[in-house]
Amino acid sequence: MHPMIKKVLVSEEQIVQRCKELGKQIDEEYKDNECPILLVALLKGSVPFMAELMKRITIDVQIDFMDVSSYDGTESIGDIKINKDLDGSCKGIDIILVEDIVDTGRTIHTVKEMLLNKKANSVKIIALLDKPSRRVVDISADYVGFEIENEFVVGFGLDYDQNYRNLPYVGVLKEECYK
Ligand code: 5GP
Repeated sequence: MHPMIKKVLVSEEQIVQRCKELGKQIDEEYKDNECPILLVALLKGSVPFMAELMKRITIDVQIDFMDVSSYDGTESIGDIKINKDLDGSCKGIDIILVEDIVDTGRTIHTVKEMLLNKKANSVKIIALLDKPSRRVVDISADYVGFEIENEFVVGFGLDYDQNYRNLPYVGVLKEECYK
């Protein structure tokens, strides 16, 4: 375990197993689609989850990435800035938005609205982690890996000041890291 990690909340094995289950669920729900679905991952935190999940989906998918910023350190801030938009049009496409964690819900709410405004056929949300106790916007993910308590977590894509994204598990940092 990394020396700055106090405890592991979700292990690599648990994440892999859950991605297999979620992949099957997505296969089942979209199996009659005529066109590939589009998985849209939000950079940078969702990259490891996207990579693990997409391998477990057997129906045809395409992928794209968006970069939006809404988070500074450990506190969520209001507005969402688009740093990178989709490469192509999403008109008429069924999208699954891939998010690392849903906290206040502002990010997924705003991005979902944006994609629907661009005439996506449908937008569902999949999140590796969900902190329902922190929600300020009335939105929930359609698929959730793990529900967690109100704790700041790192690993499997999630950072603290850009560090710890490479940890293969989700964990909680020791207090001394914040000093
Ligand atoms: P929301 O818009 O739902 O408040 O925030 C979602 C974003 O906030 C996530 O994509 C993530 O970047 C960041 N975030 C929320 N909770 C945590 C957390 O516990 N740890 C880390 N590293 N980022 C978090």
